[in-house]
Amino acid sequence: MYPDLHTHSLYSDGSETTRYLLTTAVAKGLSHLALTDHDCISGVRELWQHLPEAHDSASTPLLTVLAGVEISCDWNGLEIHVVGLLETPEAPALQTLLGEQQQRRVERMAAIDSKLAAAGITGLGSALAALPATALTRSHAADFLVAQGHCKNKEKAFKSYLAKRGKAYVAAAWCSLSEAVKAIESAGGIAVLAHPSRYPLTRRKLAALLSDFKLAGGEAMEVSYANLDPNAKKRLLELAAEFDLMHSCGSDFHTAQASWTALGKFPKLEPSAIKNAIWQHPKWHLIEQAGRHVTEASLAKYPD
Ligand code: AMP
Ligand code: MN
Ligand code: MN
Ligand code: MN
Repeated sequence: MYPDLHTHSLYSDGSETTRYLLTTAVAKGLSHLALTDHDCISGVRELWQHLPEAHDSASTPLLTVLAGVEISCDWNGLEIHVVGLLETPEAPALQTLLGEQQQRRVERMAAIDSKLAAAGITGLGSALAALPATALTRSHAADFLVAQGHCKNKEKAFKSYLAKRGKAYVAAAWCSLSEAVKAIESAGGIAVLAHPSRYPLTRRKLAALLSDFKLAGGEAMEVSYANLDPNAKKRLLELAAEFDLMHSCGSDFHTAQASWTALGKFPKLEPSAIKNAIWQHPKWHLIEQAGRHVTEASLAKYPD
């Protein structure tokens, strides 16, 4: 098992196509790829349109693709991300929530556009309108600021404009943790707390988050991802045991330009922890069956 269960495409703030994701995942020898764009499943719909249903292909697949999503949530004023691995991505309750989240994103970008205009920077609205993305993100605004020569790079764009103390910062009104988990459950999914060490939380506060996540119905957490240092990883494994959360892993891939978050680039789950691996979850095989198979034939036909 070598699954990458956290990736993005150009339907949210990734820069690559679903075709790139498939061909790269096959080239790297991944067993499973979950596409988990921010608050949208447009990329999953595209994959589903062009790949045969898993039970239709007789030969062993090169790769199994799983439906997923990454939902931005508010937890005590802090933005927390919950990944959902989904059996029925079109479930109405999930789609309602994702529609609301996309609308919040549209409104937030309009407010950021106004703040930028007040600072003398115009054109964000039309730049965003030209994008293929279904879920607009601050990452797109950062790209715009860099492309227009207002900032040297994305980090600076966040620091000067888009992050909390930036000139064009606008807080988002995300859904709650339990709304996200319930919507994922309605889609037969497993809710996974994304990149737990990346939140600005003390150990005690992180434990409080995991406790609330578990109470909300969360079932797993990421314990292996890019740039996770061994001490932080050890702490996460202890917390996963304390809160009885299964282990997930993923690169959080966004772009081919960033080699440190390349597809499949994270330590595999240790053999001693495999009994807690997310693929041991009772729902896993249903999610896998509802997924799509990639074969030589389907890859050859897959559009650019
Ligand atoms: P949003 O969901 O609109 O708040 O956008 C957040 C996205 O922007 C994240 O998913 C990251 O991909 C990206 N991001 C957040 N902070 C930074 C940063 N400091 N530098 C570069 N990208 C960032
Ligand atoms: Mn992102
Ligand atoms: Mn995230
Ligand atoms: Mn992500």
